[in-house]
Amino acid sequence: MSNEVCCSKCDLANVFGKNVFNDAVMRERLPKATYKALRKTIDEGLPLDPTVAEVVASAMKDWALDKGATHFTHWFQPMTGVTAEKHDSFISPTADGKVIMEFSGKELIKGEPDASSFPSGGLRATFEARGYTAWDCTSPAFLKEDKTGVTLCIPTIFCSYTGEALDKKTPLLRSMEALSKQALRVLRLFGNTTANKIITTVGPEQEYFLVDRDSYKKRKDLIYTGRTLYGAPAPKGQELEDHYFGQIKERVSSFMKDLNEALWKLGVSAKTQHNEVAPAQHELAPIFNNTNIATDHNQLTMEILKKVADRHGLACLLHEKPFAGINGSGKHNNWSMSTDDGQNLLDPGNTPHENAQFLVFLCSVIKAVDKYQELLRLSAGNAGNDHRLGANEAPPAIISIFLGDQLTDILCQLENGSAKSCMCGEELNIGVSTLPDLPKDATDRNRTSPFAFTGNKFEFRMVPSSISVAGPNIVLNTIVADVLSEVADRLENSTDFAVELQTVLKEMIVNHKRIIFNGNNYSDEWVEEAKKRGLPNIRSTVDAIPELIAEKSIEVFGKHSVLSEKELHSRYEILLEGYAKQINIEALTMIEMAKRQILPTGIRFASQIADSINSIKTTALEVDMTAQSEILQEVSNILASLKKNISILEQEIKETVETEGIYNQACAYRDKVFTQMNLLRKDADVLETLVDDSMWPFPTYGDLLFYTL
Ligand code: ADP
Ligand code: MG
Repeated sequence: MSNEVCCSKCDLANVFGKNVFNDAVMRERLPKATYKALRKTIDEGLPLDPTVAEVVASAMKDWALDKGATHFTHWFQPMTGVTAEKHDSFISPTADGKVIMEFSGKELIKGEPDASSFPSGGLRATFEARGYTAWDCTSPAFLKEDKTGVTLCIPTIFCSYTGEALDKKTPLLRSMEALSKQALRVLRLFGNTTANKIITTVGPEQEYFLVDRDSYKKRKDLIYTGRTLYGAPAPKGQELEDHYFGQIKERVSSFMKDLNEALWKLGVSAKTQHNEVAPAQHELAPIFNNTNIATDHNQLTMEILKKVADRHGLACLLHEKPFAGINGSGKHNNWSMSTDDGQNLLDPGNTPHENAQFLVFLCSVIKAVDKYQELLRLSAGNAGNDHRLGANEAPPAIISIFLGDQLTDILCQLENGSAKSCMCGEELNIGVSTLPDLPKDATDRNRTSPFAFTGNKFEFRMVPSSISVAGPNIVLNTIVADVLSEVADRLENSTDFAVELQTVLKEMIVNHKRIIFNGNNYSDEWVEEAKKRGLPNIRSTVDAIPELIAEKSIEVFGKHSVLSEKELHSRYEILLEGYAKQINIEALTMIEMAKRQILPTGIRFASQIADSINSIKTTALEVDMTAQSEILQEVSNILASLKKNISILEQEIKETVETEGIYNQACAYRDKVFTQMNLLRKDADVLETLVDDSMWPFPTYGDLLFYTL
């Protein structure tokens, strides 16, 4: 709705990609030979000739200056999960005391930020603090505009002096390369000679909350941790289901209009927007793109959501669980594989031959997900998502795949061969003309599955709303590449392609069908059933993190040159540290709010009642004071318990901080600190329901979710 308003005013065609040094700009601004050389580098992953870089840098600078840029930055994605940038201006002094605007090929290609303050998980000692950023020319440069001016941003990877990855992009690019290599091998076996590269595509659907900025600023928990650590439920939650796809309020649609325009300028194809299930919750979906660009775009989207919200007097919450008792936010990672000439490999084809190829790719994903499900679970874990997974609003912590009945039946036929024991009861031979038409559309929709096939792509629904999609896609690309490499090994060495294909498919189905589940993933029966099938149920992030350094993981990441053992260990440390730090900040924030806001408020309220009792007594009238004394009793009891729980929490933190070893420490944060945080919260939330509304020290759930928007 608001898109149309915007299109007519700002002429979408002119706005879209306006701030991107995209192919059209390159074609227009670069000499033909330079353009061709750069294109070759981008398309074929060839090394960039320094003389070409020089010409590109100069053209990029002129373009940026024309658009008002004064600075440039290498834009990278360290392990913090947010993007990093260090701005340099284009100016270069001249002998006559003036300046000229300069930007060299060297500055475009490589940067050397002092990087000692980024997490490295022990990979880099501070004495060798140098980190390198290197231009990733497969993601276009862009301009960031805000009140402070215009900056040319060059997407880069970030690595250490010795070449180890210190960021999320390096392994992502490596995983894309690995998948391309293995998928091409399989595709060639099916006679494809035209594709040069296989790309993975991603469309991440982003959920978020909007709250009033003034209210947000009054809550230390939102400011420090992104979620509410206290808050009694409002009388109304999401039970009426009146928010999902509901009419978008004007204040929000005006925000969305600006958001879209800001994203379109950056070439982010924001397409769909709607209200989500919880009050004040919304979703934005872009049109899918190649995984590298989609990852950059999602990072930009999260940044711009916050910026534009700010301009509209709103605050955008990207946390997975900003409010207890109502749904939290996730990010659905839609994923597929496609040839560089646009053939989606997860799209069932029109001929038996195409369908056989489709089934190989489909079954390879199924096998990969089953074989490496712990890694996938890990890739979707963070402290915020621990509140969601398995809590009847998001998929459970158990990984399974939804295929729909039709496809499941086809796999069943393949598995049984001539056994004729399944729904259709027919034998299915791959590579012969009896292969039936495959369903083009998964007619039955399942919203509870963590990993659903949706017609021509898989939708990984466990991904947390606040994290980079790099992690889940690094895992997906690598594990699917691994299975494809095994398939290719078998098929390349077979004497009868059709027979071997049938055997390989059958094996994959027999060995991995346990991962397929088309029912209700939220039900208790499924948890039981999954247990019987031997599917792991990894309930918390801390339990998932060690999977990163399990032998199986080291092997698969190493085999495909995505992450070395050293790099995996560093990431293991970073993840555990990140978890511990996050819980620590939450606990400290809770204590600060309890001691300096909640407790004093409760005491003031209690003394008000005591004063009232005393002043009534002075009247010497026979007044019934049971209400006053009961409330006073109740409030005082809660205050006593609250005070006790604060002290215990302080003690738990102290002991946890002293725990030896980062894994043990993270466990202690989960088992001791987090558990105690919940007890403290309980007291405070009860107190909130007793204390005079006008005295409560910060906005309530009702204020945040219903009153101020
Ligand atoms: P929904 O999940 O709400 O039904 P859609 O199926 O239309 O929505 O698409 C959801 C997301 O999936 C969008 O971002 C879309 O661009 C993306 N998507 C569609 N096709 C592909 C594909 N081949 N690869 C990756 N993502 C895709
Ligand atoms: Mg979806």
